[in-house]
Amino acid sequence: MSNAHAPADPESAARHRALCEAIERHNRLYYVDAAPEIPDAEYDALYRELAALEQQYPELQTPDSPTQRVGAAPAAGFATVEHGAPMLSMDNTYNAGELRAFDERVRRGLQNAGAQDAQPRYVVELKIDGVSISLRYESGAFVRAATRGDGRFGEDVTANVRTIAGVPERLRGDAPEAMEVRGEVFMRRAELERLNREIEAFNELLDQYEADEEAHREELKALNETIRSRNYRREGRRVALFKNPRNATAGTLKRLDPAKTAQRNLDILVYDIAPLPGIELTTHWDTLARLRAWGFPVSEHARRCEDIDEALEACTYWSERRHELGFETDGLVIKVDSAEHRRLLGTTSKSPRWAIAFKFPAEIAETVLERITVQVGKTGALTPVANLEPVQLAGTTVKRANLHNFEDVARKDIREGDVVRVQKAGEIIPQVLGPVLERRPEGAAPYPVPDRCPACGSEVHQDPDGAILRCLNPACPAQLQGRLEHFASRGAMDIDGLGEKLVAQLIDAGLVHSFADLYTLTAEQLASLDRMGPKSAENLVRAIATSKQRPLSRLLYGLGIRHVGAHTAEVLADRYGSMDALVSADLEDLQQAPEVGEIVAASVHDFFDTTANRELIARLRDCGVSMTQPKRPRSDASALAGKTFVVTGTLDRYTRDEIHERIKALGGRAASSVSKKTDYVVAGADAGSKLAQAQELGITILTEDEFDALAAEGP
Ligand SMILES: [Zn+2]
Repeated sequence: MSNAHAPADPESAARHRALCEAIERHNRLYYVDAAPEIPDAEYDALYRELAALEQQYPELQTPDSPTQRVGAAPAAGFATVEHGAPMLSMDNTYNAGELRAFDERVRRGLQNAGAQDAQPRYVVELKIDGVSISLRYESGAFVRAATRGDGRFGEDVTANVRTIAGVPERLRGDAPEAMEVRGEVFMRRAELERLNREIEAFNELLDQYEADEEAHREELKALNETIRSRNYRREGRRVALFKNPRNATAGTLKRLDPAKTAQRNLDILVYDIAPLPGIELTTHWDTLARLRAWGFPVSEHARRCEDIDEALEACTYWSERRHELGFETDGLVIKVDSAEHRRLLGTTSKSPRWAIAFKFPAEIAETVLERITVQVGKTGALTPVANLEPVQLAGTTVKRANLHNFEDVARKDIREGDVVRVQKAGEIIPQVLGPVLERRPEGAAPYPVPDRCPACGSEVHQDPDGAILRCLNPACPAQLQGRLEHFASRGAMDIDGLGEKLVAQLIDAGLVHSFADLYTLTAEQLASLDRMGPKSAENLVRAIATSKQRPLSRLLYGLGIRHVGAHTAEVLADRYGSMDALVSADLEDLQQAPEVGEIVAASVHDFFDTTANRELIARLRDCGVSMTQPKRPRSDASALAGKTFVVTGTLDRYTRDEIHERIKALGGRAASSVSKKTDYVVAGADAGSKLAQAQELGITILTEDEFDALAAEGP
């Protein structure tokens, strides 16, 4: 390694570490969880910064740097397989200049390698936005499919891929004895729309049945069974829509039950043969023809180009027409055609020197930001929203865009009246990049950061752990629906029969403006609501009255104080014993509580520091709601001693961290993966592969209630 470089200063070294960590995390989100958080262009920017830093300070480049690897390690739950030849990734280019530079590198490389003919031809193919896959055939028969994984090792998804209609079981003609072909599994836009329409229909039925659960108990049960069998992700009670075809594809491929994969129509296009011993290739164009002849689905849009100018023409052509295709593409791939040229050029540890991706430019439009409005979300977060003069962008009309938070608005200096540049990130959510300063109208003023909630007028607080402004008033109309549902939920005040639809009716009828109003409702008032008989009304009044006796911990949890889950609520209730003692505790004292850190303490303190909340507590007390925590016999701290737990799925009363803490506090061990050493698996909603593994291994599976019982009494 050359010593001509100056050694990396501490700041660059720290930046290098931060970039590595961020990229690792985004790799995982993209490849393993299929839930990317940032658009590709932003990821590429991080990656380029890292590569530039390593070029400047080569000593920073370690073998495990993201620049030396492809993708992320395979997810658990599927067997790992080694690819016959590594599945490489590709470097990206973003404009004609970078593409010409690639062409120059290729020609120089060929000259240096002494090629007879150093004038490369190229094949240009669409880069489909799906999941890369490797298919293995032996004696002409399909034997295995694997995801890319980290490039060397992928996940065995044979059973799922077998359900894709385009994958030939047997090849026609003279296929090699053993070979691996590479392709992309993807979902067409029409299929994504069909699935989302189906999900919307399920959600409508859910709303309808839940409005009158008693009359529809059977239908509701059957519907939930159907939804479970489709393996859709839940968002609260509703079914989550798919955000884009790539996520839907990855999610579908990674399901453990192949029969369910078949319910969603995936497509595949094959585009290459892996360079394995015994495989003789001449040109890529010929490879595509042979793949077609053997019976593989091959794209009809590939084009063979005499030189880089022709390849650039193809790039321009598809940049303009990509919305006409029935599937999502994020660019094109430009490959050297000749197999001999490819061999001479070779590969780096990470990507071939004979191919490059051309990313379509992000589509950006300019329009006038007419007004900034402030939305209050279900959790009280204040979000600035840009109301735009309608503009055409990537095939749709854009009228509004999320501005994230007020720090962002100030940092980008976005003002009402500005001409702004709008981009569609990840094809779905429009994003305001920033103002066009030369076109700022006179008198445009910075947008003032609100100090009051626009929905209820309460003072707003900045989150102790971030840039978000939040309204902490539980009676805030913008938050009332979600807050009341939570207050009445099983882990909180447990008011039987008070669900989503009924809460909405109570709010619409003006009967309930705060938690306390629940305790003054009469059977007559309730009976006046739609679809509410006198009997149900009386039952509900009784259920509400019963909830007054819940211990302080349940009330604290029900109040929905940020960062206070069921377990933290119990810790606080046990420590202070009464609401009065808790309300008058100062910040320092709160921080002393076991398992309560600075953020939780600040959040509790802010909550009781808000006038509206003190008034709410007083009213609840007047209604007869219990404000004390019964002394319980100290539960044996070794109730779970020596037992190993794995928690999976979404729980009602605990966050993942909370239940892990509880397990540890009671002497147990919390593990992240299921093995023969696991004693119990606690399974919540949407439990996935870990639950399946536990069932296979015959491990005792607990519901949340069963876990609580075990924690209270010991095994
Ligand atoms: Zn509010």
